[in-house]
Amino acid sequence: MENNIKDKVVIITGASSGMGEAAARHLAELGAVVVLGARRADRIEKLAKDIQQTGAKALAVEVDVTDLQQVKNLVDTAARQFGRVDVILNNAGVMPLSPMDRVNVEEWNTMIDVNIKGVLNGIAAVLPYMKEQKSGQIINTSSVAGHKVFYGSAVYSATKYAVRALTEGLRMELKPYNIRTTIVCPGAVKTELLEHISEADIQQANKDYVGEVGISADSFARVVAFAISQPSDVDINEIIFRPTAQE
Ligand code: NDP
Repeated sequence: MENNIKDKVVIITGASSGMGEAAARHLAELGAVVVLGARRADRIEKLAKDIQQTGAKALAVEVDVTDLQQVKNLVDTAARQFGRVDVILNNAGVMPLSPMDRVNVEEWNTMIDVNIKGVLNGIAAVLPYMKEQKSGQIINTSSVAGHKVFYGSAVYSATKYAVRALTEGLRMELKPYNIRTTIVCPGAVKTELLEHISEADIQQANKDYVGEVGISADSFARVVAFAISQPSDVDINEIIFRPTAQE
């Protein structure tokens, strides 16, 4: 059976580690052409080489998703090199959790810039191509924390609720263009995400919890592949998944 992934040009932000990297490897195995975006160029270049060695097509493009011009360059480069843009996985994100009374304003702003504006920049960059093609899929990474607020997650959750809201709005508005939208909401997955929590007590509590219940980033890769693999008249709008052991 055709997997509906083979030969699709899939742009992935946040591909330098964790779930983005796992998705890139898995989709390439299934025949996708993957375009890898992140700030750590050394990481995505190495990943692109690894993938190319398996016989699949991969390209690394350094990008800071908070900068619209850089995101446009990522998408334009993909289109120039491979002729089209089938899927964007807006997955880059940061999670410097902290209770609001600690007033870490700079971290609040970073989360808004990366987790919300970064996703909007990805949408802005692909829409001209997808509208013209009259096909495409925009997959945005939200979170279980985009459904529920935890102690210390107020601002992070706000950004992930926003991702769900803007993706649902997009879904309704893109009908004339045959563009699918998918929200993916992971629970606790073992990645580098907790490394940037600046508050030691909050970081330790989260490391303890994710260390205990967290699952592999391959879980996310399989979910993304499932959403892409559906026939073009089937749009998987949202998937929530979490470790079986997570509350
Ligand atoms: P990682 O920290 O491993 O990956 C985060 C990725 O985002 C990295 O590739 C990083 O690349 C990229 N990134 C961060 N800031 C920017 C930026 N300004 N421009 C471009 N890329 C950026 O964590 P995860 O794999 O866990 O996170 C992926 C997504 O999943 C995030 O949106 C996160 O919020 C979400 N999520 C994670 C969960 C988990 O339990 N792990 C649960 C629910 C959602 P680089 O630093 O090289 O730029």
